[in-house]
Amino acid sequence: MKQNKCSFCGQSENTANIMLRGIDAFICDECIDRAHEILCGEFNTKKTKKRKLTLASILKPEEIKAVLDQYVIGQEDAKKYLSVAVYNHYKRILQPPRDENDVEIEKSNIIMVGETGTGKTLLAETIAKLLKVPFAIVDATVLTEAGYVGEDVESIISRLLQVADYDVASTELGIIFIDELDKIARKSANPSITRDVSGEGVQQAMLKLLEGTTVNVSPQGGRKHPEQKLVPVNTKNILFICGGAFDGIEKKIASRLNTRAIGYGTVNNSNKIDKNNMMQYVSHVDLRSYGLIPEIVGRLPVLTCLHPLDRMALRRILTEPKNAIIKQYQKLFAIDKIKLEFDDDVLDYIVDKSIEFKLGARGLRSICENIMTDAMFEAPSKQEKELRITLKYAEEKNYRLARKLHVA
Ligand code: ADP
Repeated sequence: MKQNKCSFCGQSENTANIMLRGIDAFICDECIDRAHEILCGEFNTKKTKKRKLTLASILKPEEIKAVLDQYVIGQEDAKKYLSVAVYNHYKRILQPPRDENDVEIEKSNIIMVGETGTGKTLLAETIAKLLKVPFAIVDATVLTEAGYVGEDVESIISRLLQVADYDVASTELGIIFIDELDKIARKSANPSITRDVSGEGVQQAMLKLLEGTTVNVSPQGGRKHPEQKLVPVNTKNILFICGGAFDGIEKKIASRLNTRAIGYGTVNNSNKIDKNNMMQYVSHVDLRSYGLIPEIVGRLPVLTCLHPLDRMALRRILTEPKNAIIKQYQKLFAIDKIKLEFDDDVLDYIVDKSIEFKLGARGLRSICENIMTDAMFEAPSKQEKELRITLKYAEEKNYRLARKLHVA
């Protein structure tokens, strides 16, 4: 007699516990089980993904800033601007215009200007932790005009699409942080001498994204190729936050301030200028003279600057943030049940050396590594359960770095 077989796995009626009959198919108990599991999994991920965004469920600007305060030292203006921008972004996506006559809240893209190592990426990464919309960090250095070696500007949107788990609707409400925007500044003062494939051409392409357009992006990122399936994404509601060091922009700021210093009352003004922190006077005009095209500058209405980190700020960075470097070492040692302590003058010494070598906040970690490597190598095998780092010990261990940099 002919045995009935499961139409999915082919198992025969004899070996299956249960075999259900459909109109002209069969299914065994194992396949039912598997199908049930798939359905439950799918349902749960959909449920968590589609958790509804409401104004009550999102953090207010002051609350967002309070979170940033836990990780980023100083940079009050930038934190405030970012918090407001993110909050307004939520408001905008939660209250689309009801009809043609309703007021449409437009997006306010942001640009943050500040020396390298002052916390731009840190701010972006920290804000990413608390966002309820997809957030991608991309680097402008790799972008080139379509057809040249490098990545198309649309790859920025692919990144967001990937972060959003390929959900186009939520990608369209996301936030993108474009780092190193200064690297796509126009390369020469005269725009048309040679083709500027990684500068002005990229800016022109990026302009469309900032303005809001529908781009066909390849879900895998990288260059498009003809056989690839492309996904249309509308960028109208995507918020762009840009960051850049704009090396040398101080000169443009200074020359602008000097040219203004003509006429009544200017003597007093020029006296007030803090020459050690010219960045605080940065304006949209300076971004244009640096090589951003006016249309891009116009699409980044909120301009904020990050201040250079002084001795005090560096000292605080060592110990205060939630994941401060010193706390990280203490945790590493605590795992081996060793209590690690640093003398105060060691912390001052680390800051002094970082300033001396002009390494900024990034230098703090490399100096700490120099001081701590031997201890991390030896301590886990030793019996002592306490370790105190003294200035003498720190100086001795850090000598290696000084030698490397030829400044000993
Ligand atoms: P940027 O993007 O401005 O070049 P980063 O944000 O990458 O600089 O900063 C480099 C590192 O320096 C960070 O990982 C962080 O450890 C430290 N750092 C820089 N600025 C700050 C700050 N304001 N507060 C706390 N840590 C900071």
